[in-house]
Amino acid sequence: MIGVAAKRISKHLADMLLPACCVFCGETLVDGFVCEGCHADLPWIACCCERCGTPLATPLPVGVICGNCQQRPPPFHVTIAPLHYDFPLDAAIKALKFGRRLYLAPALASLALPRLAARVHNFDALVPVPLHRWRQATRGFNQAQELAKYLHRCTALPIRHCVARMRPTEPQSGLDAATRKSNMSGAFEMIAAPRCQRALIIDDVMTTGETCRALASTLLAGGVEYVGVLTIAHASP
Ligand SMILES: [Zn+2]
Ligand SMILES: [Zn+2]
Repeated sequence: MIGVAAKRISKHLADMLLPACCVFCGETLVDGFVCEGCHADLPWIACCCERCGTPLATPLPVGVICGNCQQRPPPFHVTIAPLHYDFPLDAAIKALKFGRRLYLAPALASLALPRLAARVHNFDALVPVPLHRWRQATRGFNQAQELAKYLHRCTALPIRHCVARMRPTEPQSGLDAATRKSNMSGAFEMIAAPRCQRALIIDDVMTTGETCRALASTLLAGGVEYVGVLTIAHASP
C-alpha cells in the first residue's frame, strides 16, 4: 500500500514540476492552457443572439433576439457560448468526452471565462447538465461537471446538483429537430431544492438547445427565477 501511495505522490510531484503546455500545439507555457497563436486561431464567435447563442453574420440591435427565439422563445434568458463547434474545438471536446482526457476540461472552461466575467454577477449557482446514471457509470465522469468544477474555482459560484436525468435519452446527435424535442420531454426532474435563484446551466456544446430548454424549464418550475446557459461551443444546426 505504501508503495502505491508513494508512486502516486511522486507522479503528482512530477506533474507539478513539468512545465505547462498548450493543449492544442504542445508549446511550453509559463501559465495558462493555450498559447497566444492557438488562442488567436480558435473559431471564436464574433456575434450571436444573446438569448440562444446562435452565431449570426451581422450583429442584432441591442435588446433584439433572433428570429428563432422570437418564434419560440427559450425558457433560459441568456446564452454564453464563445466558440463555433469547429476544429480544433470539436476534436478537443470529443477527446474530453470519449477519450477521457480530463485535463482538457479546465483548458476548455477557461476559454469561456472572459465572456462569463461580464455576466457572472447575474448568477448565484452553477448547474452542470446531469447525465443519466447509467451513462455516468459507463463514462466514469460527467464532462459538464468537470467544466463546472473549473468555473467554480474561478468564480466561487457553488455547484448545485438539484436535478437528475430520469431517462437514458438517446444521444442527440444525428436526430432531427422534432425527434430531439420529443427525446428531451420529461428528461429531467428536480431531486432537491435548488438553493439558488439565478442558475447558470453548464454544458460542453449547444446544438439545437433542446437539452438546455428541458433543463431550464425544470429549474424554473422547481423555483429558480432566472436561468442562463454556458456552453464552450455552439454547433449551428
Ligand atoms: Zn498552441
Ligand atoms: Zn436566438
